[in-house]
Amino acid sequence: MATPEHTPISGKNYPTTWVQFLDWFHSEQACRDYLEKLRWPAGLICPKCEASAQVGRNSRGRLICPSCRRQTTATAGTIFDKTRTELRVWFTAIWTITSQKHGISALGLQRVLGLGSYETAWTMLHRLRRAMGRPDRDLLYGEVEVDETYLALTDRITPTVAVGRKSNTTKVLVVIAVEILQSKGFGRIRIRQIARGDHEHLMPFVRESIRLGTVIHSDGSPAYRKLDDIGYRHRKTVHLGSDTPAHESMPGVHRVASLLQRWMMGTHHGAVQPDQLDYYLDEFVFRFNRRTSRSRGLLFYRLLQQAVMTKPVIYEKIIAASRKSKK
Ligand SMILES: [Zn+2]
Repeated sequence: MATPEHTPISGKNYPTTWVQFLDWFHSEQACRDYLEKLRWPAGLICPKCEASAQVGRNSRGRLICPSCRRQTTATAGTIFDKTRTELRVWFTAIWTITSQKHGISALGLQRVLGLGSYETAWTMLHRLRRAMGRPDRDLLYGEVEVDETYLALTDRITPTVAVGRKSNTTKVLVVIAVEILQSKGFGRIRIRQIARGDHEHLMPFVRESIRLGTVIHSDGSPAYRKLDDIGYRHRKTVHLGSDTPAHESMPGVHRVASLLQRWMMGTHHGAVQPDQLDYYLDEFVFRFNRRTSRSRGLLFYRLLQQAVMTKPVIYEKIIAASRKSKK
């Protein structure tokens, strides 16, 4: 198995085709072995005493640390922790959502996998979005456009909302950053939901998303006035009346915003709760930033790799969080 710095190889580190996928992941044990290599490419590192050594295995297939005798599994402490869903189903779900260009809704996933309950599909998707949202260590750099835009959401089709009443449309504010490539075209993006488009909300996003020294292109909003002071090179375009439409002065942000809105309306029918939006944004960014990856298998590999590094989240917790924020 390749270490994170190495480029994984198709057919060796991840399956190239669906037939190969079926061949590799024919059993729970095969899936578990694969996760072990993915999580500990250089061999087990004990979660308790952090020793790395040749490990033993007990009769139930659990790994045993030779120093402290702690038992562990490749799924402990990841999004697969304590799941009642078979790993083969998880793997198929990941293959499915990474092989579809625009992803899939919970209902769609339930159908594809033949799952008994909508909640299972919904929870799987949410756990996977958590994995997609693991922050990339590489900040955006070079030349970056930053601007805010409104996104329209409706509150239909969620498991917590009773059917049969009219849907409401909510507009939420998001800030988008897009790398502008010299060679023409767009690089990577970052998106975050914000309460207001002011200095206080925009600067933390800028600092956590964009490398210092980067040329940041913004509009004339006073919220961006201090960019030069905090270590960026600020270039602003002031809109004079209607002379410069947004899609000309901020082509990157404008393009990403319209793709995002279309994805929300298309794949998810716009039915996203504002307090769940961050996870959807994570999925959109994950897909967008890997859009040029020609191999679907590589996307499968990357998501699985992030999945074994992500803390679990249970359905009840997600629902509880969304109920709480509605009060
Ligand atoms: Zn140990």
